[in-house]
Amino acid sequence: MKITELDFLDISEYLNSNVKALVSLSKAGNMKDDFIRDVFISKFFSEKSVVIFGEQVHRTKIAVVDRQTKSPVCGVDGIFTRDKSVVLAVFFADCMPVFFYDPISEFAGLIHLGWRGISQNFVISTVSFLEKQIPSSIPSVKVVMGPGICGKHFEISQELAYVFPEIYLTRKKDKVFVNLRKVVKDHLVNAGIKEKNIYDLNLCSFEEENLFSFRRNKTEERNAAFLKLDSEK
Ligand SMILES: [Zn+2]
Repeated sequence: MKITELDFLDISEYLNSNVKALVSLSKAGNMKDDFIRDVFISKFFSEKSVVIFGEQVHRTKIAVVDRQTKSPVCGVDGIFTRDKSVVLAVFFADCMPVFFYDPISEFAGLIHLGWRGISQNFVISTVSFLEKQIPSSIPSVKVVMGPGICGKHFEISQELAYVFPEIYLTRKKDKVFVNLRKVVKDHLVNAGIKEKNIYDLNLCSFEEENLFSFRRNKTEERNAAFLKLDSEK
């Protein structure tokens, strides 16, 4: 994907024209900052929108939220909604936000995925959660894999390498790298998401200077992914 001079990426087209899906770039500032985030949100979403995000604790809990839900939602890394006035948000800096949308049931969600969540099968449990929420809709569910650190740049310790099957690892001298994008894609497909409904942005936060990267800068600053079931401002 081509990075623009803008302070955001609009990835709505990869999900559906009825939704608004955005990723903030570093030019927009640290999305963990309430003021900066509010300014960004007011540019793209109506005043009536309510922004809801999870606490993000690198586990596998998902909440279904609406505009009454208190944000941040404690202990969750996944948030889904049917409420068209809600803007879902996920923060990241090398972890990967993953967008889900079902056009039939108009159900949408975002999950925050790092190696911990992936190794706890968070992708697979998210698809199981969808099967319960929207039975028989899995064939229509669209997924966008957002920015995140790539397999060339995500070095892990030798001890951690045992967590992932060897096919996802690259060993160089005494270093081990894991291709999390490939793990996520395989988990999605194996859990039942149609391959043609998965779009991988294939954008590495470590390489792309328009994104905050914890590994590159040890920064506390965060990018954010936003998803709303309504494309209108
Ligand atoms: Zn990379």
